[in-house]
Amino acid sequence: MAMQLNDSSILSSIITCVNYAAIAHKNQRRKDPDKTPYINHPIGVAHILIEAGVEDPAVIQAALLHDTVEDTDTTNEELKELFGSKVAGIVAEVTDDKSLDKQERKRLQIVHAASSSTEAKLVKLADKLYNLRDLDRVTPEGWSEERVEEYFAWAAKVIAGCRGTNALIESELDKLFKKRKVIV
Ligand code: NDP
Ligand code: ZN
Repeated sequence: MAMQLNDSSILSSIITCVNYAAIAHKNQRRKDPDKTPYINHPIGVAHILIEAGVEDPAVIQAALLHDTVEDTDTTNEELKELFGSKVAGIVAEVTDDKSLDKQERKRLQIVHAASSSTEAKLVKLADKLYNLRDLDRVTPEGWSEERVEEYFAWAAKVIAGCRGTNALIESELDKLFKKRKVIV
């Protein structure tokens, strides 16, 4: 279904998602030295998708909600009730299993990327682009240059499984990989 800006039900569902995410993340901050409010990230991920021509409202809604289950008390059942099974399903696909240790979660992101739905791949691509731009802009407090490089190298492996999904986002990622001399 194509997004129609005059469709008030789509607009209201988008605002409802922004509001829900803003409340869920209200006490969280990003890791940059300015401690940017966390909500800037999901809004920025949704904005990357809009700029890249993504018109499926469920993908934009899922982008806005993509870190709520992983990082807040929100459950996927709650998202399903409030926003429907398509949106909740995309969020579930981009949510790590928190019962696993960090290294295993990162390994599984690489393994699962290629078999993800197109919708989930779009959110993953935009999420990684946002995070890599953030890391390229400024190093989080306490992070060594080596840790930043490790993050870039890992993200490139996740992205490898998501290629062929959105040329614009992938070319933006490739510009960053080239700048940071990451082998893709
Ligand atoms: P984290 O998972 O701790 O942090 C990265 C995540 O933080 C991003 O995926 C993003 O997730 C979120 N985030 C918040 N603010 C920012 C920001 N400003 N820029 C980018 N991302 C931000 O880090 P790692 O991925 O490095 O995971 C920890 C791993 O690092 C461990 O497995 C450990 O082995 C390793 N490690 C390495 C060290 C080293 O020096 N080499 C030191 C310590 C740990 P989201 O999209 O969900 O917001
Ligand atoms: Zn994210």
